Order: sequence, then C-alpha cells, then structure tokens
Amino acid sequence: MKTLLLFAVLSFTVAHHAADTVYICKGSKGKKYHLRSDCRGLSHCSHKVVKMKLADAQKEGRTLCGFEK
Ligand SMILES: [Zn+2]
Repeated sequence: MKTLLLFAVLSFTVAHHAADTVYICKGSKGKKYHLRSDCRGLSHCSHKVVKMKLADAQKEGRTLCGFEK
C-alpha cells in the first residue's frame, strides 16, 4: 500500500510541473522563479514562498533561478 501511495504522490508531482507552476520568494528583491519548491535558492527565502503560473512570473520580469539551469 505504501508503494501505491508513493506512486500517486510522484504522479501528482509530475503532473503539477507540467502545468507550468513555479515558486517565487514573495517580498524579496530577487527577480527569479523556481521550478522546485525545495530549491536551494528558495531555502534562503526569508519571506513567504508562493506558487504562481510560469507565464505570470515571466510577466513580472522574473527569470529562472541559477541553480536550475
Ligand atoms: Zn531555484
């Protein structure tokens, strides 16, 4: 049962990324977005980490975080 649950979680994660959801550190001066919520760049975020659509992040002039290129 545990294996099944893990598979379900992984499937959800993959589907989630396909939806172009990115993570940003709201309130920071950084103009970056992150593909992973556990990215090294976000671990330094002292503000709130929020999810948003990739297109919206790019509209704000954000670029992909250097750790994820
Ligand atoms: Zn990042």
